[in-house]
Amino acid sequence: MKYFLVILFLITASFANAQITIDTSFEGSNGRTLNIDNANNSVQVESAFKRGDVCNVVFYFKVSGFDSTRSLNIRIKYSQQVYLPVLAAYSYDKITWYRISGTIVGDSKEFINVYNKRTVYFSHGYPYVYLRLNDLITQYNGNPFVSVSNLSTSELGRAVKLFKFTNPNIPDTGKVSVWITGRHHAMESHSNYVVEGLMNFLASADAKADYLRTKAIIYVVPIMDVDMAALGGTGKDQYPVDFNRDWDSPSYWNAVKDVKTKMLQTSALNRFKVFIDSHDPFPGETDTSARLYLYSFCDTGRRSVNLNTFRNKLYSNGGYWFGRKPIYPTSGQTSSRWVDSMFTSIDFSTSIETGWVNRTDGNTWTIYFYTKHGEVIGKGISDYIAQSTPVIENNEVVNNYSTAYPNPSNSSANIKFSISKRNKLNVLIHDINGREVSREYLGTLNTGHYTYNFTALNLSSGVYFYTINDEEGISIFKGKLVLLK
Ligand SMILES: [Zn+2]
Repeated sequence: MKYFLVILFLITASFANAQITIDTSFEGSNGRTLNIDNANNSVQVESAFKRGDVCNVVFYFKVSGFDSTRSLNIRIKYSQQVYLPVLAAYSYDKITWYRISGTIVGDSKEFINVYNKRTVYFSHGYPYVYLRLNDLITQYNGNPFVSVSNLSTSELGRAVKLFKFTNPNIPDTGKVSVWITGRHHAMESHSNYVVEGLMNFLASADAKADYLRTKAIIYVVPIMDVDMAALGGTGKDQYPVDFNRDWDSPSYWNAVKDVKTKMLQTSALNRFKVFIDSHDPFPGETDTSARLYLYSFCDTGRRSVNLNTFRNKLYSNGGYWFGRKPIYPTSGQTSSRWVDSMFTSIDFSTSIETGWVNRTDGNTWTIYFYTKHGEVIGKGISDYIAQSTPVIENNEVVNNYSTAYPNPSNSSANIKFSISKRNKLNVLIHDINGREVSREYLGTLNTGHYTYNFTALNLSSGVYFYTINDEEGISIFKGKLVLLK
């Protein structure tokens, strides 16, 4: 049978006017062929691997044998137009991807393009397949700061990988723990490039990564729904519940059950400080305000303030402006909500949604930008942890002191301060008219020296005043900041 197919393939390929074929036999592929029209150089495909109807917009297949001297019309049949991707993606080698826009015609969205090769891969977005994790494992081989284990086994028998990043030369006692999860929803493959960028940062020689590895143990589960990532399913239509809605007890999916158990175990040893779950909004992305945002269950109070502080750290590391949204009240027990309710020690717990098409600066998201964005998140975590970690030599006597530098500064100023005893502190910035322009809660700080970075991109030139207040609102430090832009 095998030989017969090979011979048949050779005969077919040898014809001058080869027939169009559609292949969905490779990892992560998904598509059902509805029609092949050789005369018009056109194919019609619909999403095949789906349970429900809402997310029938996931497709990934290979088209071969078309006439590359004229345009190929790839028609994607939909049943929910609103969820169709604004931009699809194609590639000749599954490595370099290009975006392509389409037009709704009848029951399909048509993507018409001239391809300069006779084989093209076509997908609803940049695919990120389960096997890619093996490449990462190979890449980290020999890196002393990375270890990989199997967290869980999926329902179809695949390993759910857990990556652990820390400096093994520093004792774990006193380190905090940070958890990152990705791909609760398999169709949100772009969010996986964000996690990969973050992991590559955590494994790197970057000074902020180096610092973070001395202060924290960072656990990363890059793909939660490994089966749907491998099969090309949507994941949003998982039955009886999608992975992100499965955090309520008792959990149904093995990966969710096991990650919860592991979080409880690790938090008993190292204070659980930060949790981030990486998602993408829908590929339809018509809501321009929804390009990049942080969900949080706690929209007021300490954790909300901490999350804003973290958002500022992303911003000062070159991140794009993040919006904030409270979690949908109807969304049930999502990952970040469960973590919020379970761990009193946590500083903040959030789901990050990274846009599908357009960044806030007008550029289109590329794989490079997604991985870069992951790096910014890593630097943000490092800065967030640095801000609440004192620098102090053994037996050093610390006196209260503060100064701001550079002064004047342009877009970002550092306020260096030292405290002689443990305190809960807020940093407030006022303009010359006494109007409060910024307020950040720094948390409970131990005796030591700190550097608070204030990002002032939204403020105009002028004289500003900073005050650092204790819990009762009593000012411990006051100083002047001059912004010159
Ligand atoms: Zn999601």
